[in-house]
Amino acid sequence: VIYQFIGNCIPKKDLMGIIEDTLNFDFPINKIEKNIFSFELFHGPSLAFKDVGARFMARCLAYFNRNSKEKFTVLVATSGDTGGAVANGFYKIKNVNVIILYPKGKISSIQEKQITNLGENITPIEVNGVFDDCQRMVKNVFIDDEINKIHKVTSANSINIARWLPQMFYYFFIYKKLNYKNSPIVVSVPSGNFGNICAGLLANKIGLPIDTYIASTNLNDSVPRFLNSGIYKPISTIKTISNAMDVADPSNFVRIQKLYNNDLNKLKMNLFSYSFNDYETKESIKSVYIKSKYILDPHGAIGYLGLKEFFKRNNNFIGAFMETAHPIKFHETVEKLIHKKIPVPSQLSDIINTKKGDTINISNYDELKNYLLGTNY
Ligand SMILES: *Cc1c(COP(=O)(O)O)cnc(C)c1O
Repeated sequence: VIYQFIGNCIPKKDLMGIIEDTLNFDFPINKIEKNIFSFELFHGPSLAFKDVGARFMARCLAYFNRNSKEKFTVLVATSGDTGGAVANGFYKIKNVNVIILYPKGKISSIQEKQITNLGENITPIEVNGVFDDCQRMVKNVFIDDEINKIHKVTSANSINIARWLPQMFYYFFIYKKLNYKNSPIVVSVPSGNFGNICAGLLANKIGLPIDTYIASTNLNDSVPRFLNSGIYKPISTIKTISNAMDVADPSNFVRIQKLYNNDLNKLKMNLFSYSFNDYETKESIKSVYIKSKYILDPHGAIGYLGLKEFFKRNNNFIGAFMETAHPIKFHETVEKLIHKKIPVPSQLSDIINTKKGDTINISNYDELKNYLLGTNY
């Protein structure tokens, strides 16, 4: 699946080693209701589906850097889960410094602890703003000559395709695990920056026989509005309980359009997109728990709702939605809805009772730039 994108940069044997190491945890699929399956992507070390991308990228970087003494700065903006996955994936990797920008007060407390409690080569920066502000600042660094003169910077956001190319595997896993011969498969992807669904559409393009994809979003609905109206017009970011998807202007959507030669009608044959509010999200967490005893997290809940919406008009499909985060990461929201404590998985037992670690606080690009120019690792 991925070798064709790597060419001869990494020999096949080494690439296999990197992939084996990246995927060394489970990817279970659970039946929730008739024709609806939850594909759980949260069994990695930071309990986020982004672990796969972050681990793959960290290992590639370590591979390319194996004989060099050069230092890299990995810069990443997070709406919640990228930070933890990247921090974990790159923790103590030699000659790599990781700087994580996150919007102050807009990520869950567990997510914040995952980012701020490691120390070593991981530096958290709290930004007075929203995720889109963090992402804009990160993008500015790459075109800032003064910074690029002294630091070798790279991104661990999904603007870097090394982060989401390995996410193509998910779609192949779904196809293999569902193993349905007679019904077409539809996959619903809770979407924020649209990297994950871009990987799905690329998997289809290279031959995976899953044709139908649903980009399920929260109230940050630039893409569903675009598919309806043909006009792409992001408005300002809205804060929701599925905070990892609070993205108003998703970076990867231009790539998706490019995959379809910017032909909206062609795109609409493969891609559906629906948006849901916090009330609908909460109601689905409650009702799925009552009906199936299955605990959704707010992001997976949006994926589930996308399938239900699609099934109103199409009933011959088998559907899977991606459960992109462990519900414990949003226990403040979820436990209130299901009236039950969520057991703490082993990956978090150390962190859950700690306090948030130290951070640097900034409000604008100049402050970030001054920090980077003043830092000599
Ligand atoms: C990042 C994230 C998403 C959105 O993924 P994109 O690739 O940015 O669309 C969904 N759910 C969770 C839990 C996430 O962390």
